[in-house]
Amino acid sequence: MAYEIKTINTVADRFKTGGRAGVWDDVPDKDWDNWIWQQQKRVKSLEQLEKVIHVTPEEREAFEKSNDLFHMGITPYYAALMDRDDPHCPIRLQSVPQLGELNILPTDLEDPLAEERDMPVPGITHRYPDRVLFYTTHNCPVFCRHCTRKRKVSDPSSAAQTKQLEVGLKYIEEHKEIRDVVISGGDPLSNSDDRLEYILSRLRAMEHIEVFRLGTRNLVTLPQRITDSFAKMLSKYHPVFVHTHFNHPKECTAEAFEACRKLADAGCVLNNQMVLLKGVNDKAEIVKELNHKLLMMRVRPYYIYQCDLSQGISHFRTPIETGLEIMEKLRGWTSGMAVPYYVVDAPGGGGKIPLLPNYVVKKEGKKLTLRNFKNDQFEYFEPEDNE
Ligand SMILES: *Cc1c(COP(=O)(O)O)cnc(C)c1O
Ligand code: SF4
Repeated sequence: MAYEIKTINTVADRFKTGGRAGVWDDVPDKDWDNWIWQQQKRVKSLEQLEKVIHVTPEEREAFEKSNDLFHMGITPYYAALMDRDDPHCPIRLQSVPQLGELNILPTDLEDPLAEERDMPVPGITHRYPDRVLFYTTHNCPVFCRHCTRKRKVSDPSSAAQTKQLEVGLKYIEEHKEIRDVVISGGDPLSNSDDRLEYILSRLRAMEHIEVFRLGTRNLVTLPQRITDSFAKMLSKYHPVFVHTHFNHPKECTAEAFEACRKLADAGCVLNNQMVLLKGVNDKAEIVKELNHKLLMMRVRPYYIYQCDLSQGISHFRTPIETGLEIMEKLRGWTSGMAVPYYVVDAPGGGGKIPLLPNYVVKKEGKKLTLRNFKNDQFEYFEPEDNE
């Protein structure tokens, strides 16, 4: 039976548009709302950047010294979210080069997660028993300054060619133990709808594939990418999970809300993977506000990642203690749905390791002393016969 579900979001009007920053006011809506236009008009040079913000001498120097290593690229939509005068603006910190990027620590690693070592064929990282990471492009709408794959992203020579795509698909086809495919990049939504549909249809045709996820930051940096026809295309391949990457409540705009609405209405399940970044979101109140907004956008907070040991991102790293404190201030104090897992992706390819504040105060024989979120203690007794 054909039917149409019309969803009503009474919270939608709590989300404000990202605006045009007084820079792109004359651009017709049909261009501004067009993701190809947004891609083509990315802010890539100092001259363009100076129209949007008051560039500090430090930012200028950082741009000049880093642009060969890791390009700057910011969609007009995302650039319009930047504060013109505040160099500590969380959007600015994530997208405009900073001097900290030039510090390479002796403990920094080129491939911190050993993704290349665990690559049986180019474009596939197979680390866990039943799932793989599948790289399908190396382009992204915005080059995040904290990107863990800096060595790959923004470098066109490392782009996944059509031949490589086939090699990856063949590997997944031959490995029947794989039931979950993380379609990644770069940002997989940098692929055309046709190319993505080709990938999804190939994966769906494999009996052993149960789920796949699109790991994308487009909902944050280029929400215009989520067109009706794209959402409709995805709805042919369910179950489709979309894993996105919001880091700050400022990113939760009316545009982002609309992109999430389209995907959720099309039946996708949305999860968020936040990266813990010094000066951006290293406070419990910010994370809580972000997670509350995400839930209203039908996005479930899934992971908080500790920042990796990648080269050139050490200025973003916080102590582990900061992450634990945030977890402590979430659990119990707000909806469990707003409490993600805090994980460290172990250097050297150990995979994700969850960290949690310690709630077991002591253990004496069968008696455990536990504490709750308010630090009140409670005794709990193990069953007698738990041999
Ligand atoms: C993160 C990751 C996955 C997915 O892990 P989940 O915990 O299932 O979300 C799969 N493969 C690699 C290599 C990863 O880094
Ligand atoms: S979208 Fe993801 S892969 Fe692309 S630059 Fe940002 S963090 Fe890196």
